[in-house]
Amino acid sequence: MAVKQFKAESRKLLDLMINSIYTNKEIFLRELISNASDAVDKLHFRGLTDDTVGLGADDYAITLIPDKETRTLRIVDNGIGMTAEELENNLGTIAKSGSLDFKTENSSEELDIIGQFGVGFYSAFMVASKVTVVSRAYGSEQAWKWESEGADGYTIEPAEKNTVGTDITLTIKENTETENYDRYLEEYGIQSLVKKYSDYIRYPIRMMMTHSHPVPKPEDAGDDWEQEYEEHSEMETLNSMVPIWKRKKGETTDEEYAEFYKTNFYDFNDPAKVISASGEGAVNYNAVLFIPASAPYDFYTKEFKKGLALYSSGVMIMEKCEDLLPDYFNFVRGVVDSSDLSLNISRELLQQNHQLKLIRKNIEKKIKSELLSMCKNDREKYEAFWKSFGRVLKFGVYSDYGAHKDVLTDLIIFYSAKEQKMITLTEYVEAMPEAQKYIYFAASDSVERAAKLPNTEAVLDRGFDVLLCTDDVDEFCLQIVREYKEKSFKNVGGGNLELETEEEKEAAKTAAEANKGLLDALCEALGGKVKAVKTSSVLKEHPVALSSEGPVSIEMEKVLKNMPGNDGIKSEKVLEINENHAVFTALKETAAAGDSAKLSLYAGILYEQARLIEGLPVEDPIAYAKAVCSLMK
Ligand code: ADP
Repeated sequence: MAVKQFKAESRKLLDLMINSIYTNKEIFLRELISNASDAVDKLHFRGLTDDTVGLGADDYAITLIPDKETRTLRIVDNGIGMTAEELENNLGTIAKSGSLDFKTENSSEELDIIGQFGVGFYSAFMVASKVTVVSRAYGSEQAWKWESEGADGYTIEPAEKNTVGTDITLTIKENTETENYDRYLEEYGIQSLVKKYSDYIRYPIRMMMTHSHPVPKPEDAGDDWEQEYEEHSEMETLNSMVPIWKRKKGETTDEEYAEFYKTNFYDFNDPAKVISASGEGAVNYNAVLFIPASAPYDFYTKEFKKGLALYSSGVMIMEKCEDLLPDYFNFVRGVVDSSDLSLNISRELLQQNHQLKLIRKNIEKKIKSELLSMCKNDREKYEAFWKSFGRVLKFGVYSDYGAHKDVLTDLIIFYSAKEQKMITLTEYVEAMPEAQKYIYFAASDSVERAAKLPNTEAVLDRGFDVLLCTDDVDEFCLQIVREYKEKSFKNVGGGNLELETEEEKEAAKTAAEANKGLLDALCEALGGKVKAVKTSSVLKEHPVALSSEGPVSIEMEKVLKNMPGNDGIKSEKVLEINENHAVFTALKETAAAGDSAKLSLYAGILYEQARLIEGLPVEDPIAYAKAVCSLMK
């Protein structure tokens, strides 16, 4: 019989399993039971519309058969089974593409793989020296045997099996100094693993359990009678089977929810938040939803698909129903079970389904209120959530021309320059002094940089807070929000900050008029690089600042520059000069002396400096370097 080789990827994963130092080897049972349950689901589902399946709802089961004598543990299901081709394709290759893109040289990475992907069938090799799978597919008379001792490859040959389904035999490894494999052959060891990991599997997981009972003392027993025991065995169902989302509040512990989440949604960490929701009346459903503690590895890739598992009265009809979640809550995982949905509903009909729409609406409300309460009552947790998923919410505000902003603006937080921490928009507005008209924000590539922008300092100096934006979506998001609690947003880099008092405004006007000749000359010297040169009375330390007029800010220009097709989009820049700075006096003197060559040199230097402060590259580095040197001569 020909021994076939595993595909390269599978082989790697297999090696990893065989030589695993992963301490949580026991999860192999969860993986195999969950595969068995999936297979049973498939046949069960089919049986609902196809009489030839011939099994009743109560006939489906997963049976565990440990045997110490042969050191084997069998996992037997009466699910859909596999054909020879399926055995070859499913067990000879790993489906989880990408799982080995991770390097696997050290143990913590190994841990990551196991945690993130759930390694499935191959995890059997963590505890077994040989794995034998005998399977007969539904609709086929022929059974097949797949067998492997690991890295050397596997064999497939015809086999005998009377019933449809899969029968997996693990030959359990011998104990080592550090690992007790015997426990996978002990009834009680297996029972507790099933309770721990597979309690909600919808089908009975059965095992022959042996109990010993004390034999009653015979009446004529003498004083030296010793207690005797009698053994008896019976088939027992090990799991409680009630789906977690069907249980009443208080019947499920946090640990149980966490375990359910981790096994079903392949996360290594406990969820940040568990939300249970249900409806009765217009629409009947139970849902359990989870907010992950961190974004899954593929979250920000095209491969990521949002959605909740959809069940109809306990039978799964769709693994990821997209229509149950808006895009801006795409990170939420979970299960929705409704008795109002027909089992055979098609994807297309589902989209139109009135009940589904109601469920979605309710779920959305519930998620929002839970997030709001987390934001209010557990800010630390919310900030951790925000780190992973804040971007999604901000994109949500921006998307569809702001159609969802009313749902989302309450959930948004930004870094406050004044408070030195993340705050909500409500908190910002509530802390505004009476004289403050606008919600100010500054955008740059880091909080430190945004805080040091000349105009940020100017606003802070007036006692007004500035929200520091560092995400490329931030400005787009705030531009769409436009106003919050009747206060408009103002970009500190957008000019006209309206910080001056009436007197200052008057003085500024006079100064602008008095210096008009100088400012125009500077603007002309810059040859169209800026739209205007203005004096500023609010700048403190900095001699110059760059601001913008019109809809495109300087930070947006940077963002757009990195997107294909948008390179030509520029902001209209204004060079602001601090009228109280010594540099301004120097400019005035140069102008008075009629030295226009020097004035033009100064204009160029100040413009480039303003760009540097804004985090923009120097436009003409050589000319700039020459200009600075010529001053030193
Ligand atoms: P996953 O379950 O994540 O797809 P596995 O490696 O655990 O990955 O299993 C690979 C495939 O083998 C499954 O998707 C399924 O099609 C098939 N399979 C595994 N166990 C069984 C079983 N007991 N009955 C039928 N098919 C099975």
